[in-house]
Amino acid sequence: MSDYNELVNIDIAGKNILIREDLNVPLENGKIINDARIRAAIPTIKYALSKGAKLAIISHFGRPKEGEFNEKFSLRLVARRLSEILKMEVFFEDKPLDVKSPEYKNNITLYENTRFLNGEKSGDSKLAEKIAKNCDVFVMDAFGSSHRKHSSTFTISKYAPITCGGLLLMNEILNIEKIFKDPKKPVLAIIGGSKISTKLNILKKLITKVDAIIIGGGIANTFLLSSGYSIGKSLVEADMVIDAKKIINIAKEKNVSIPLPKDVVCESSNNSFIKNTNEITDEEMIKDIGPKTSTIYKKFIKEAGTILWNGPVGVFEDALFENGTKDIACSIKDAKALTIAGGGDTISAIEKFINIEDLDYISTGGGAFLEFLEGNELPGIKIIKKL
Ligand code: ADP
Ligand code: MG
Repeated sequence: MSDYNELVNIDIAGKNILIREDLNVPLENGKIINDARIRAAIPTIKYALSKGAKLAIISHFGRPKEGEFNEKFSLRLVARRLSEILKMEVFFEDKPLDVKSPEYKNNITLYENTRFLNGEKSGDSKLAEKIAKNCDVFVMDAFGSSHRKHSSTFTISKYAPITCGGLLLMNEILNIEKIFKDPKKPVLAIIGGSKISTKLNILKKLITKVDAIIIGGGIANTFLLSSGYSIGKSLVEADMVIDAKKIINIAKEKNVSIPLPKDVVCESSNNSFIKNTNEITDEEMIKDIGPKTSTIYKKFIKEAGTILWNGPVGVFEDALFENGTKDIACSIKDAKALTIAGGGDTISAIEKFINIEDLDYISTGGGAFLEFLEGNELPGIKIIKKL
């Protein structure tokens, strides 16, 4: 039995269904450049339509000033794309939801950006009540916004007769939980990125759950410093050295491997060169893992039963420092393990070096994915939990 109230277990024929999606796709020069988030919402929408429900869809889009309409942040283009993908008319309603509640006259209507509405971000009750008016069921499906306690992601559940999780949200929960619930061992986490401060809570959680953690990117610099290495001018968070040490100590206690880089790619005077980690001079800046380290990391990836990846292990945006992240991505592609990844820059790296389909699961959430991994109860998930 599921711990959650799920859309698939509710009779929605002929009902008014309010669905919160995360349709916050990237735009460039007024064009949608990646519609992955729209496509991710399709299963829930198609499912609800197939059951004969009438749909009102709500979402935020970008970061407009609250309380003001701004054409740049309008969902109109998204409605059009949604129409194209569904091959049916999607009505677009630009009247603000705090003025006019959804009326469910059409099969499917997308409403204008929830972040134009006063009170959305503070989780205002009056606004939530307005939006929920006339709905029979509220479907929370916006995993990417589930860490927000906003009016349309959280408060609204107080006013909807029934609240449940959509297919996308349930799929995210099911897949991410695979890392913790009876995973195939050994479990390997690869945690990179620029700042340890943004990943510290995840590391603290993972250290008690996994068999090995590969630490890369700027985060590795702080670990190297905490282990007594000189790291020159590399990006570092000196106030996190104590935390890094604590993690290394817990790892020793729990027998978790944390293989730190043996060699790295450095930058100095606009040149790049490979150095052993114990030979970094004051002028050098670590920007990637080196080939010896890659070989060691590849072995961990090859032998793992489950792999979680968040955070590039180098400044992969620059061709001089992309090899480490490229090696990780390619080994993950070939791995026999169950592979799960998430994070905005991690997904960019995956798209650059391999394909999204090469992994078993890629989360649509950035911040929400990280908070879920930390073990936090996310507001947008709390509301669909059975009491
Ligand atoms: P994600 O979005 O996948 O969670 P992060 O935002 O934590 O990942 O980190 C990605 C960024 O980390 C990239 O822009 C990359 O350039 C940077 N990075 C990786 N390694 C280093 C390094 N050695 N020094 C500085 N920045 C780094
Ligand atoms: Mg990022």
